[in-house]
This record gives sequence, C-alpha cells and structure tokens, in this order.
Amino acid sequence: MAQEADPGEVGTGTEARKYVRLPTFLERGFGDLQNEVTAKRVCCLCGTCAAFCDKIKIEKDESGKREPRFVEDYDTVCGLCYAFCPRTFLPLSEIERRIFGEERKSAEVLGVYRKGYAVRSKKEEILKEGQDGGAVTALLAYALDEGILDGGVITTSDDQWKPMTKVARTYEDLQAGAGTKYTLYPSVTGVREAVEDGCEKIGFVGLPCQIQGLRKVQTAEQPYDVGVEKVKLFIGLFCMENFTEDLLGFVKLRGVNGSLEKVSKFSIKGKDLIVSGEEETLRIPLDEIKGYVGEGCLVCTDYTAELADISVGSVGSEDGWSTVFVRTERGEEVVNAAAEKGYIELKDVEEKGLESIRKLARSKQESGMLTSRRLFGVHP
Ligand SMILES: Cc1cc2nc3c(=O)[nH]c(=O)nc-3n(C[C@H](O)[C@H](O)[C@H](O)COP(=O)(O)OP(=O)(O)OC[C@H]3O[C@@H](n4cnc5c(N)ncnc54)[C@H](O)[C@@H]3O)c2cc1C
Ligand code: SF4
Ligand code: SF4
Ligand code: SF4
Repeated sequence: MAQEADPGEVGTGTEARKYVRLPTFLERGFGDLQNEVTAKRVCCLCGTCAAFCDKIKIEKDESGKREPRFVEDYDTVCGLCYAFCPRTFLPLSEIERRIFGEERKSAEVLGVYRKGYAVRSKKEEILKEGQDGGAVTALLAYALDEGILDGGVITTSDDQWKPMTKVARTYEDLQAGAGTKYTLYPSVTGVREAVEDGCEKIGFVGLPCQIQGLRKVQTAEQPYDVGVEKVKLFIGLFCMENFTEDLLGFVKLRGVNGSLEKVSKFSIKGKDLIVSGEEETLRIPLDEIKGYVGEGCLVCTDYTAELADISVGSVGSEDGWSTVFVRTERGEEVVNAAAEKGYIELKDVEEKGLESIRKLARSKQESGMLTSRRLFGVHP
C-alpha cells in the first residue's frame, strides 16, 4: 500500500512539515520486526504493520495463534513496519509534543487531557446497544451526520462474537458495531479498508495499543505516503487487558449451550467477566480466564488510550454512563458540539471516579513495566 511520496511539505493534522529520511529504519525489515516483537511475544496484534504493507498479513499459524506473517518472497526492507510498530520503540514525549503541543506533567498517570466528563447518549437506541453510555457511537454519529467524518473504522462482530472491522458510513452501521468485544483483533487494518473505500475523513476507534501504532504512523518522518493524514479523529478505549479468540470457545463450553448467538453483551465488572444472554447471565471469575490474556498485553502500560483525541471507558462513572477524556482541541470541539446538538448529555466526572481510574492506570503501568523488566531488563 505504501507509495513513495514526493519529498516536500505535507500536512499531518494541523502541522505542515518536511519528510526526513531515517536511514536506520530503512535498513530494518520484517525479519527485524519478527525478532524484536513477535519472537519476543510482545506483539499486541494491533494490525499497524499489516495496515500499511501488502507483504504482511495477520494470519493464524498451525497452532491457531494469530500473528503478522510475511506473505511474499522478497522484502524491500523499507523499514515502515519496524518504524510504525508500537512495540519496537515508543517515543512518548516526542509524540505528545507533536499531538498535544506539550508533554504530560510527570506525575499524571492519565496522560495529557483537558477535561474529564461522564457522558451518555441522548438517543435511546444507542443507549440500548452501547456498552456503557454509548458515548463512542453517539460521538461518531454526530461526526458522520455533520460531515466531520465520512467513515468511522469500528470493530463489530459476527453472530459468534468474532470481531471484524467495518467502515461505518451510516447510523445503522454504527449501531450494529456498538458494544465491547473482548477479543484481540488487528483493527488498525480497518484504516486501510477506509482509505481503499475512498474515505477522506476517517474516524478510528481502537484500543490504546492501536492508537499508539496509528499515532506513530502519523508522527513518523518517513518518505512514503500511506494515507494516514486522512485519519481525522482518534477515539481510544480504556483497556486493562484483552483476550485471544480461544476465550470465545471457553465461554461456549462453560455454559451458553454451545453457541454465542444468544449472547447480547460481554462486560467486565469487578473481578468477573459477565456474559449476558436472553435467558441467563453467566459470571466467570477473571482468574479463570487469565490464561487467555494476550501475551502482548502483559507488557502494556497504557490504560486510558493516552494518545487519543478522545478516550472513553466505563470506570469512573456510574452504570449507564461512559467516562470521557478530551485530550486535543479537535476532541474538545467534537464532544462540545455533540452535546450542543443534542447527541449526548455530559457532566463533570467526579473526583472519586478520577481517582479510581488513576489507581487502575497506575497498577497497569507498574505491572507492564515489571513484566518487561523481568523479560528483557527494560521496557520496550
Ligand atoms: C478489549 C477491551 C477492554 C476494555 N477494558 C476496559 C477497562 O479495563 N476499563 C474500562 O473502563 N473500560 C474498558 N473498555 C472500554 C469499555 O468496554 C467501553 O468500550 C467504553 O466504555 C465505551 O463504551 P460506550 O458505551 O461509549 O461505547 P459504544 O457506543 O458501545 O461503542 C463501542 C465502540 O468500541 C468499538 N470496539 C468494541 N470492541 C473493540 C475491540 N476489541 N477493538 C477495537 N474497538 C472495539 C466498537 O466498534 C464501538 O465503536 C474496554 C474495551 C475493550 C474493547
Ligand atoms: S516492505 Fe517494508 S513494511 Fe513491508 S515487510 Fe518489508 S520492511 Fe516491512
Ligand atoms: S504490535 Fe502491531 S505493528 Fe507490531 S508486529 Fe504486532 S501487529 Fe504488527
Ligand atoms: S492491554 Fe494493551 S496491548 Fe492489550 S489490547 Fe489492551 S491496549 Fe492493547
């Protein structure tokens, strides 16, 4: 997908800058990515490498494990996959300076943000389908209706809860994609689909690691035109951990009559995964499913999608509401205008809510760093 761009000025967000070649990365190829990420079992399956190179596909291996694979004979060693992967290196301060114009205050575990809200959709049908307050779906609906976006990359699922990306163009598409899928999926590849679909103003919804990958692409100085400037809005989800697809098989065996078709919602409350169905609700202790947590999640330190324009989670607000951090000017504009136009209602998030988010963010940061120090001596 990458095409050599004319050297010269390009716009990335609000900032125009020069392409600068980084020769170190131009000498790194898929083999380096494999050695430093997949072989070390820190790949989070974000999909960023495959989204911007035809030669990489995220496929299952013989044992059923999904991972990025090189599917052609010859590697041109252009370095993009290595430079874009959030697990090779992550110059957080530099990325923050570029997207927020400042770095976080050193003690702020939630990253840079302007305001924290509790948000709820004002549209009944979104509230019904949404995971918490339906904030993500309502914000995308507003942005599509107003022409701020012409496509939203979301992660929907089939009737067995297997995730898949979708380029949402309509209210119905958005509604069908609402709700949390607790399964690892390379959703960044949806950005490629959106560009190929002709979208010029893309909104992307994804997990913290996926936002990290896309922000690396957006802020990297590299000599190729990969179309990332078309992503105009980054909505990140809070995430403590995610699970391999095998979790779905386990849930089927554990008691939903061998099928997930009648499951209406998966959620995590306290120490349980709750599987809600038409007739029954199953509570599975998280301890029972920790074996399904993605390997790449164990070194992850970002709980609140610190690099998004808008971050959304459930912790910190009462049931039926979403917690929303606006981090950039663009994010603030979208949230305020969606409230003014009657898509959402919002109120300040309470201090005790913020404290519980900080507590979880700190614990994720500490455990991610501890694990990577144990494995490699340093954090990747
Ligand atoms: C794997 C995972 C772990 C999470 N862990 C936490 C947590 O620890 N604490 C917390 O407070 N919140 C967590 N969340 C976020 C929470 O579950 C809700 O997604 C969030 O509160 C938004 O709710 P909503 O009602 O505003 O979203 P909705 O309006 O229901 O929209 C949800 C959006 O999320 C997208 N989506 C769903 N699943 C995925 C996925 N696997 N990958 C990418 N996009 C997806 C959908 O496409 C949709 O656009 C997690 C979400 C996921 C996907
Ligand atoms: S061509 Fe470039 S992006 Fe694709 S696998 Fe090789 S080094 Fe990675
Ligand atoms: S972490 Fe993402 S970009 Fe890196 S190898 Fe895995 S899927 Fe590719
Ligand atoms: S825990 Fe981290 S690596 Fe795992 S899915 Fe969530 S954001 Fe990605």
